Amino acid sequence: MIVHTFYASKALSKTGIDIADFVINPYRGCTYGCVYCYAQQNKNIKKRKEKWGSFVDVKINILNLLQEELRSGIMDVSQRVLIGSVTEPYQPIEKDMRFTRGILHTLNDFGKSAVILTRSPLICEDAELIIKGGHTVFFTLNTFTPLDPENPAFQNGNECTIGLEQKQKSRSSGRCLTGFAGRIKEGLEPAGPSLDQRLDAVARLVASTADVRIHIGPVIPGLTDCEMLFAKLPPGCTEVALELYNFKMGSWPCVRTVLEREAPQAVKLCEEITASPEIYEGYCRRFRDEIATINRKYGYSLRFFIPQFDAYFDNEAYHYEVS
Ligand code: SF4
Repeated sequence: MIVHTFYASKALSKTGIDIADFVINPYRGCTYGCVYCYAQQNKNIKKRKEKWGSFVDVKINILNLLQEELRSGIMDVSQRVLIGSVTEPYQPIEKDMRFTRGILHTLNDFGKSAVILTRSPLICEDAELIIKGGHTVFFTLNTFTPLDPENPAFQNGNECTIGLEQKQKSRSSGRCLTGFAGRIKEGLEPAGPSLDQRLDAVARLVASTADVRIHIGPVIPGLTDCEMLFAKLPPGCTEVALELYNFKMGSWPCVRTVLEREAPQAVKLCEEITASPEIYEGYCRRFRDEIATINRKYGYSLRFFIPQFDAYFDNEAYHYEVS
């Protein structure tokens, strides 16, 4: 792991994302190194020579900056901060630096609330602080279960099925897909925690009475088994947000390379559904419908983050349809 430190010019940045008014990122880069990560498109990251996932930059003055900005009255009483919009705030270096913990302490001192986006069990060590400040955790889960190779992804040309049905057929065919799923996980999320570790962390947070919402993302058509995830959620979860993968954010060529080896049907599905705005919109409608059907058994409050067909990340505007 390559660690650099630097002085940031500010701690809080305004955001257009609907779940918060400001974002704060104690680190730049992320040693979990997810291949699909949108943060790679950040202009400061793109300049880097090191491989994505091999480095992390630490903003060593972040806590002083945050205190100064909060003292200046930058935030209204009702406004919230999203911690971890372009980095994982509980990636391994947090264990040594504890800057995310410092941010929570500072926000608590100033009576400000936060939304924390994470996929790391390390967050459980801060459960007390999170409860004390009334903060909300969005915990990210996903799966990498490929379609059954014997099951053609598209039978009907543009009238594609969305992948969830295909996976149901895979299960009934009795083929063991664990090997594929393990290799895809290693390819797409080389250092991220396993699903079991994450589910255990969610259960511990829920048991601690922290406000935990589930974030399933990115949902990659043909890979993300939402039905299985819904079934595995521990009791006490109330809200599930589903974020469809944004094919226009720049990481698709690398994701495609990983999937081509292990799940070519998923590549075919992804490319067919993004062939035109009409097909894509049809897919998104079916996706919502299928999730609503799955959810009949559970009754979670649902939230969808669906990128518009031609949206591209521009660092300020998040072109999401939220419902
Ligand atoms: S954990 Fe989050 S920030 Fe880190 S590489 Fe993965 S998607 Fe990106």
